[in-house]
Amino acid sequence: MSGILVVIEQRDSRIARISWEALAAAQKLAAQTSDPVTAVVLGADTAALAAEIAAQPVAKVIRVDHALLADYTPDAFTLALQQLVENESPTQVVLPHTYQVRDYAPALAARLGQVLISDVVQIADGPVFTRQLMQGRLNGEYKATGAGPCFVSVQAGAFRAESTEASAPAPIEVFAPTIDAAQIRTKPGKPFRGSSQTVDLGSAQLIVSVGRGIKEAENLPLVEALATALGGELAASRPICDNGWLPMERQVGSSGQTVAPKLYLAVGISGAIQHLVGMKGAHCIVAINKDPDAPIFEVADYGIVGDLFEVVPALTEAIKAAKQ
Ligand SMILES: Cc1cc2nc3c(=O)[nH]c(=O)nc-3n(C[C@H](O)[C@H](O)[C@H](O)COP(=O)(O)OP(=O)(O)OC[C@H]3O[C@@H](n4cnc5c(N)ncnc54)[C@H](O)[C@@H]3O)c2cc1C
Repeated sequence: MSGILVVIEQRDSRIARISWEALAAAQKLAAQTSDPVTAVVLGADTAALAAEIAAQPVAKVIRVDHALLADYTPDAFTLALQQLVENESPTQVVLPHTYQVRDYAPALAARLGQVLISDVVQIADGPVFTRQLMQGRLNGEYKATGAGPCFVSVQAGAFRAESTEASAPAPIEVFAPTIDAAQIRTKPGKPFRGSSQTVDLGSAQLIVSVGRGIKEAENLPLVEALATALGGELAASRPICDNGWLPMERQVGSSGQTVAPKLYLAVGISGAIQHLVGMKGAHCIVAINKDPDAPIFEVADYGIVGDLFEVVPALTEAIKAAKQ
């Protein structure tokens, strides 16, 4: 038994950033064990995607191709990956903690008599995997003790995708799983996030997030103007979405989205733990808050102590002027 498999998720032939983060996590594991990393991509025709992945520092790319993998179904994905894992006998299988993975990975691990350590935020020597418990108030440390393979899914934003480096193209192999249409018990419908109006905060590079400090829905255009000037996405803390001032899909936090942009600008957000767990993976955090003791300043790289109703319009004007 050897090697680390990392599953690269694709949708409409596009690879989401969380998959590159899963690859970074696999590289981190590989640095401890010196095991080779093999990237896996599933679909009906993954040739172009496999070539894209092969440019990353991986030992090998395996295309798991089958007509019945064209659309995601838990049965087909579980079957295909079960056969691949039995064939490859890896020590570890790393997956991005996406909705899809949450759907099939527990069944996959159970079918192989293994455990799934899900939503991992850190990997230490051992390897020891850290998961957050009780809305991020506690960290649990987990170590696989069985014969393996150990299945691990990694949280969005927990590992830096940039840590992967380009290298000479890796070899690409094709694995053809045996799947019978009769084994698939569900019929895929339209993807949940198929509409162009929905936002993918998880992939956004620049986020301006607004909290209860904004006071009234009528004041939101102030922050919207800042997001527009910066060319970023607008996000919010939970009370803003609970009030219906912004749609739920823009909520960041433990019961919202997990984000990892290059810049996260928190405007009038106190920094409650449930909010922090959703955005602490941002590369640079800037906070604007009138309370110098607000917990958000503990995670901020830059802090502005001041009234957002003065700071935000001035910042928007300065950004517009700088762009001219
Ligand atoms: C099970 C559970 C799940 C949760 N999930 C989430 C989640 O996913 N996401 C989330 O965000 N929360 C979540 N929460 C709620 C969370 O605990 C906090 O209540 C929430 O994050 C607070 O939002 P806030 O920072 O916008 O508001 P507040 O905590 O009220 O903070 C407002 C901040 O604005 C500042 N302020 C006020 N006026 C001004 C001004 N004029 N200029 C500058 N600053 C100003 C204040 O100093 C204060 O720090 C959850 C709670 C529970 C129990």
